[in-house]
Amino acid sequence: MAEAPAAIQRKAPLAPLTSIKVGGTADALATCTSFRAVTQALQWARQQDAPVAVVGRGSNLIVDDDGFRGMVIRLAGRLSSISVRGDRTLWCGGGASLPRAVQRAANAGLTGLEFGASIPGTAGGAVAMNAGAYSSDLSQVLDWAVVCDAEGRRRVGRDDLAMGYRTTSVAGDQVVAAVGFALAPGDPTAIKAQLDEFRAHRRSTQPQGVRTFGSVFTNPEGQSAGRLIEAAGLKGHAIGGARISPVHANFIEAGPDATARDVVALMDEARRRVRDAGGPVLHAEVRYLHPQWGIGAPPLAEIA
Ligand SMILES: Cc1cc2nc3c(=O)[nH]c(=O)nc-3n(C[C@H](O)[C@H](O)[C@H](O)COP(=O)(O)OP(=O)(O)OC[C@H]3O[C@@H](n4cnc5c(N)ncnc54)[C@H](O)[C@@H]3O)c2cc1C
Repeated sequence: MAEAPAAIQRKAPLAPLTSIKVGGTADALATCTSFRAVTQALQWARQQDAPVAVVGRGSNLIVDDDGFRGMVIRLAGRLSSISVRGDRTLWCGGGASLPRAVQRAANAGLTGLEFGASIPGTAGGAVAMNAGAYSSDLSQVLDWAVVCDAEGRRRVGRDDLAMGYRTTSVAGDQVVAAVGFALAPGDPTAIKAQLDEFRAHRRSTQPQGVRTFGSVFTNPEGQSAGRLIEAAGLKGHAIGGARISPVHANFIEAGPDATARDVVALMDEARRRVRDAGGPVLHAEVRYLHPQWGIGAPPLAEIA
């Protein structure tokens, strides 16, 4: 039997590990600081027949109110570090903060990653989601990723990950443990100006100082999910402790008493009202940690 991963916590509260801060506890939380520890944790979970869930900064994740009857894996230590390698490669552990990576690239005079300045996830989570903004996404700068599973680790190229609009082929029991971004030398003053502009734009268009998980729904082809929800009259609409943001209707804000159930009910309401108004069926961008089987789509009501 594989060894239990070194840093393992039982009955770990998960709400503090997410940006929206709802949800219950996980049976186990493994904090891994090396590729070997990640693989060991995955092997251990498999031997226990326990489902696994990989959590970055939880900035696009709702945890069920009943928590998770399995093992959550997080990355730390070397696997959250960032370094510049050679002339134009930014090496990031999968658990590295994306905004920190962006700043590190800027400090080194490397351009290409600026769009990620205000995406508050990890490098690994951002690759797994193919996060993006301002008409760019991670697929445009990713060179390679080290992916770990219970069999070991392998280095894959960008083209192996089937990166589409907020989607990739990274499976729920795979861990993006390190990534290499291929950047280009740029003018440090221009890079800084671009970062300032992107950050200012965020501050003026998105809710600030409140608990959210970024965009709730993906944008339907040629349309804006936020505008559709706003047109359905839902800005500020509340259920329990959660409400549709009065600032940007594709954000949900969670108050101190919000539950995962409130958030999902609001998502159902938004989808139903947009559909009733003749709009398209909205699809969730945010991921959901189910108690029994791990991370997947939120448990939304069927809609025609
Ligand atoms: C204020 C705010 C603004 C945001 N703006 C944007 C934006 O502009 N564009 C955008 O795309 N997103 C945005 N987001 C959403 C979020 O930041 C991104 O989706 C981010 O990529 C999620 O990274 P994470 O590490 O927090 O992942 P988590 O939320 O922890 O997890 C999300 C998914 O990634 C998987 N995952 C996490 N880490 C790994 C890993 N190392 N290996 C394998 N799978 C992993 C999880 O299993 C889960 O399926 C925003 C969120 C907030 C709160």
